[in-house]
Amino acid sequence: MYEELRNELKKRKYRITAQREMILKIFLESRGRHLGVEEVYRELLNRNVRISKATVYRSVELLVELGFLRKLNFGEGLYRYELADRSNRESHQHVICQKCGRIVEINSEQVNKIISDISKKTGYVIKWHDLKFYGICPECQAKEKEEEKRSK
Ligand SMILES: [Zn+2]
Ligand SMILES: [Zn+2]
Repeated sequence: MYEELRNELKKRKYRITAQREMILKIFLESRGRHLGVEEVYRELLNRNVRISKATVYRSVELLVELGFLRKLNFGEGLYRYELADRSNRESHQHVICQKCGRIVEINSEQVNKIISDISKKTGYVIKWHDLKFYGICPECQAKEKEEEKRSK
């Protein structure tokens, strides 16, 4: 993956910086999570990497442009990022809690079937899709019930 990143950066005449590699490393180590720029920035500080938030933002955007990361919008007023399906990582869908913002990944067989149907009907090779489900997570449901009980 790092080798790939170095090649890709070189090809486009971008500088290969330790920070860019470190940012990719953070995403590789937190597979399945969906990090915002703020979280990546804090993670870098934890690892004693001195970097400005603006540089983090630019680096993350560059990794999106190069196809290493995918940019996601869950309607929270900020963008989140995850590792892209470069090595054909299985496609997945997101379920988002409207109360606490927790994001769960699912890989629905029915959705995969819909995709292959679409592919058959249109002749397109479907590269990726963006499907989100919004609701209330089990923890927040339990909390809501607790609060209801208390207010009675
Ligand atoms: Zn929740
Ligand atoms: Zn995801």
